[in-house]
Amino acid sequence: MRVVVLGAGFGGLELATKLSAEFGTDLEVVLIDQSDGFVFGFSKLDVMFGRTAAGEVRHSYRDLAKPGVRFVQTTIRAIDPQARRVETDAGPFEGEVLVVALGADLDPGATPGLVEAGHEFYTTEGAFALRDVLSDFEGGRVIVGVTSAPFKCPPAPSETALLMHDFLVARGLRDRSEISLVMPLPVPIPPSPAASEALLSAFAERHIGWYPSQLIRGLDPASRVARFADGTEMPFDLFLGVPVHHVPAVVAESGMTVDGWIPVNPLTLETSFPGVFAVGDVTSVGTPKAGVFSERQAAVAADRIISAIRGGPGTSEYDGYGMCYLEFGHDEVARVEVRFVSGQAPTGSYDAPSQMLAADKAAFGTSRIRSWFGREWPSVPGPTR
Ligand SMILES: Cc1cc2nc3c(=O)[nH]c(=O)nc-3n(C[C@H](O)[C@H](O)[C@H](O)COP(=O)(O)OP(=O)(O)OC[C@H]3O[C@@H](n4cnc5c(N)ncnc54)[C@H](O)[C@@H]3O)c2cc1C
Repeated sequence: MRVVVLGAGFGGLELATKLSAEFGTDLEVVLIDQSDGFVFGFSKLDVMFGRTAAGEVRHSYRDLAKPGVRFVQTTIRAIDPQARRVETDAGPFEGEVLVVALGADLDPGATPGLVEAGHEFYTTEGAFALRDVLSDFEGGRVIVGVTSAPFKCPPAPSETALLMHDFLVARGLRDRSEISLVMPLPVPIPPSPAASEALLSAFAERHIGWYPSQLIRGLDPASRVARFADGTEMPFDLFLGVPVHHVPAVVAESGMTVDGWIPVNPLTLETSFPGVFAVGDVTSVGTPKAGVFSERQAAVAADRIISAIRGGPGTSEYDGYGMCYLEFGHDEVARVEVRFVSGQAPTGSYDAPSQMLAADKAAFGTSRIRSWFGREWPSVPGPTR
């Protein structure tokens, strides 16, 4: 019996870990990813703002030593969901069960002028490269702008604006700078009115310009002006963008998508292809695109696969729950808990920013690295972020 897991991000790592814990070497799990290591989304902000080094936040897949799990670093070129078979640069792989956990791809080139005149902080390379750009920045007009919806981790642009404020204050550059935040959402975190209210107050206190329900359509490299979808123009000295998201090309070509993403049964994460599951950002399951949701969906898919292998009825169901930490600046972190149930308005709770929650966030990252990679993180004592 072989389970082939496509993608070793939040979802794929959690799924492989659960299957290994249940079956050990009795089940063959092939985990495929083109990268050499995993990086938490939030670590991108930490590197970009100089709070930690790039080498500290990359978790090499070489360290994966899970009984029954074989990690293969290669690029997936074709997926045949009917045959549960993939073609890769390392040859074909086939399984009784296939799990698609390939996330959302980012496409900076899709926004005119973004590559030439701006920067993006959503890819690992983009965020890591920004570390030097920011340390050379001498102040000026900064725009944090979103170019398409849906986008991963909806709080991340708000966090970036708040961390940018702290960064400029620490360098004595805030007085000669402006920060503007351009988002397609009407409020920063729609499912949590309390979190949105707290963020809007924080923006007002810090004189961060808030431009809701707007998308950035392009940048003009000659005049260094950002153009909004409604035609508004805003000049910038530094543009930090969230690029266009879509499924990886190999998923689009597989015939599994409807309206751009893979539809799944929202309770079981099964696709319309027998034996094929999809979890996380690659799906249209109805939750925001964030690691905590991918992880919880992967746990349900794993339970379902375990039940099927054991020959019992699958009972585990996805509940749409997610908990997200929010960087507020001043070394404080807030927490938002939300639950998305199909056909109902999302409900949630909010805990105000504190240093205690900053420690909780660090413990969250540590616990995942311990569970997935079997080692402690950070490897050296000190600030974890
Ligand atoms: C700045 C930023 C901050 C964030 N902060 C948070 C946060 O605080 N909390 C949170 O929960 N989420 C956060 N996120 C979002 C989070 O990173 C993603 O939502 C999460 O990683 C999605 O998990 P996934 O398993 O669905 O996909 P991913 O983790 O993206 O994994 C997909 C994997 O598939 C691989 N892959 C893709 N195509 C191929 C191919 N053709 N061949 C082989 N491999 C391939 C990729 O290399 C990747 O490793 C943040 C994101 C960003 C950008």
